[in-house]
Amino acid sequence: MKQALVTTKELQVAATDPGSALCATPITVYGSTWTAESIVSRNFELAADLVALNEEQRQVLRTPFRETKVSLPVRMDDGTMEVFTGYRVQHSGARGPAKGGIRFHPVVDEAEIRALAQVMTWKTALVDVPFGGAKGGIACDPAQLSGAELERLTRRYVARIHRVLGPYRDVPAPDVGTNPQVMGWILDEFSSRQGYSPACVTSKPIELGGLRGRNQATGRGVAIVLSEHADSTGLSLAHLKVVIQGFGNVGSNAARFLAECGCDIVAVSDVFGGIRSRGGRGLPIDELIEHAARRGTVAGFPGAEPVSNEDLLGLDCDVLVPAALEGVLRGDNARKVKAKIVLEAANLPTTPEADEILGTMGVVVLPDLLVNAGGVIASYFEWSQNLQQARWTEDRVSEELDHYLRHAYGAVARRAERERISLRRAAYGIAVERVARAEALRGIAASR
Ligand code: NAD
Repeated sequence: MKQALVTTKELQVAATDPGSALCATPITVYGSTWTAESIVSRNFELAADLVALNEEQRQVLRTPFRETKVSLPVRMDDGTMEVFTGYRVQHSGARGPAKGGIRFHPVVDEAEIRALAQVMTWKTALVDVPFGGAKGGIACDPAQLSGAELERLTRRYVARIHRVLGPYRDVPAPDVGTNPQVMGWILDEFSSRQGYSPACVTSKPIELGGLRGRNQATGRGVAIVLSEHADSTGLSLAHLKVVIQGFGNVGSNAARFLAECGCDIVAVSDVFGGIRSRGGRGLPIDELIEHAARRGTVAGFPGAEPVSNEDLLGLDCDVLVPAALEGVLRGDNARKVKAKIVLEAANLPTTPEADEILGTMGVVVLPDLLVNAGGVIASYFEWSQNLQQARWTEDRVSEELDHYLRHAYGAVARRAERERISLRRAAYGIAVERVARAEALRGIAASR
């Protein structure tokens, strides 16, 4: 599915060979203290204090609307049967249909998906698109599955959960380990059961009603948010040194758009390890993307030096972009960050402990709710385009994306300044307030 020419197993073998150019050092997530659930719950409670929610409102907002867990028996290519576990959590539909990605990754579990679903509720509210929040996932390693196995697994998942999905119920999209092809199978399986429904899933291939520019939108948004921050603080993007952890959809597109803005991408990594440029020069991003597509990893890029995922976080740079998994900046490693800005392209990459440490070090953390919202904003364009049977040009998509993100950045920056709080607290505050207001107007729970 990842079109890697080498499998995970081959890369792991290569990485244990001292002569190999590969350097297999997956990131450590969370350490012992935090989980995705405790990070989002802490961020929510801080926001609830900020906007003075009562206990009833908090209870309604922290409890997911619906959680679905399904077993997924799949016939493997060798004739054996494997039973996977799939999840879909719909955290809130107060502001519109639930919306959120589907993750295929070995460490997926119910608690992680529940936390990421809640993040989606706050993200859609912050950027003011008419959706709630959801997330789905299957515990599996897509790099170990053939294309046919992956398709059977995806179809089984949709077969088991399609009754809780739909254009006005819950609209999935890609996340770690999934891509437009997987969305194409979801469209087909859903439509074969409920009738043709292009708006049932977003980030589809263009030929199936996908939006031009959707696949790049999250990475493009990452660059837009940094450029808006630079504009409003008088920072120049020219030759800013950027380090990116994670080189999948979000990381590689962020690299491309940040380089277009004049930044020098000096180091990148993926699950198999990382590379840094020699002499601090910018890496040639198009060649690197080509290399990663061919080899299935950035490791071994000619002319670059290997660096481990953990050491990458402490490299000398201006901007650090976590673009892989949650909980990578923690109490035990935040002090080694040398960047002046952390641009959170991944969801929940910073634990509250690390947040405090970075704050005292004077590091500006541009929060995930805002930085990676380009994907869900473009998904909103795709969904509404599908409902109207319309077609937007890529220029229109970029213009509208720019407008939504700059507007959201302005609201967050103004609130942070006015109330002397972090950008994260301001972002959560705005989002939680909007969802609480929607719940009150529906007559569910209101302030008294
Ligand atoms: P992806 O699967 O395309 O890429 C993930 C990258 O992370 C890959 O380079 C992979 O090798 C790396 N990675 C995975 N596990 C790792 C580990 N243990 N150690 C080091 N690297 C590891 O996924 P993506 O869509 O680019 O998503 C990346 C992040 O962005 C996630 O936090 C996701 O929730 C978030 N996000 C994605 C979108 C989207 O539109 N795809 C939108 C918003 C947020």
